Amino acid sequence: MPFSREELHSILSALPDPAFVLTRSGRYAAIFGGSDARYYHDGSSLIGQSLFDVIAHEKARWFTLQVREALDSRALRIVEYSLSGNDVKGLEDSGPDAPIWFEGRIQALDFLVDGEDAVVWIASNITEKNAVEKRLRIQSETCPLTGVFNRRKLLEVLAQHFELFTRNRIPTSVLMFDIDNFKTINDHLGHQVGDHVLVAVADVCRQELRKCDYIARLGGDEFVVLMPATRHDHGIIVADRLRHLISSRLEETFKRICTISGGLTEFSPPDVSYEAVLRRADDGLYRSKRGGRDQVSVV
Ligand code: GH3
Ligand code: MG
Repeated sequence: MPFSREELHSILSALPDPAFVLTRSGRYAAIFGGSDARYYHDGSSLIGQSLFDVIAHEKARWFTLQVREALDSRALRIVEYSLSGNDVKGLEDSGPDAPIWFEGRIQALDFLVDGEDAVVWIASNITEKNAVEKRLRIQSETCPLTGVFNRRKLLEVLAQHFELFTRNRIPTSVLMFDIDNFKTINDHLGHQVGDHVLVAVADVCRQELRKCDYIARLGGDEFVVLMPATRHDHGIIVADRLRHLISSRLEETFKRICTISGGLTEFSPPDVSYEAVLRRADDGLYRSKRGGRDQVSVV
């Protein structure tokens, strides 16, 4: 062994992330490392205390359950959880203010600690990594211009709701709509104003639809609204209201007549996939265009 006891202790103290020794009953037996206050609170005051003394009961129970699982399986256990300084009684004020997301890596020890079996629990601060992941996920599913969902996310949501429909027959309506003569808006007012029109359309949808409805820009000037738990006879009322509101908002803002046409349909038992539903909504949209625009056809 190239290290003395003191050096080994010094190595443990230098561990970048805090490593707790926790007993089966939930007692903090020791803590090593994690000394950078930008990332971690000083946990030395916890030694000798029980999880149940310092953390809310439900959370403490969850922690002891993880300890038990790691002890019983003897395998490495990896968990994610959040904790803020306020969640833990008796911590010093230094350390991050906001809640911290942790990845816990838990491994059983092969000796008893104060007569109990115990684990080493390394708690790594993954708050920043989680925030980046969340930002990337939102970017990957959002249309950057309008802020509504993009085509990729829409197809994912449609697939999920179609699955729900095939299992539980939850009625679900889908509206596909497209701005009428949008090319002439671009031609007469410029592409940038065209972009503002797209944003205004998305804004009206966001303001008017329920929290549980999904709004997506399929591409170009085409949008899709998925309305869960909605039959087509109610869906058409929503769609027509949206049509009126969009055209009056656009007229008010851009001082020219600007309408939308749409196709509304409902998931139905013969459908084999959500693609069939989208195709039907698209057929309805083109029926509306052929019928003179500024209307929604139910198909
Ligand atoms: P219709 O009534 O048949 O829908 O006629 P339309 O002129 O709206 O024709 P269509 O829907 O086929 O054309 C959509 C146009 O939208 C074509 C394209 O130039 C324009 N467009 C697509 N994406 C964008 C965008 O991000 N910004 C702007 N300003 N225009 C876009
Ligand atoms: Mg169009």
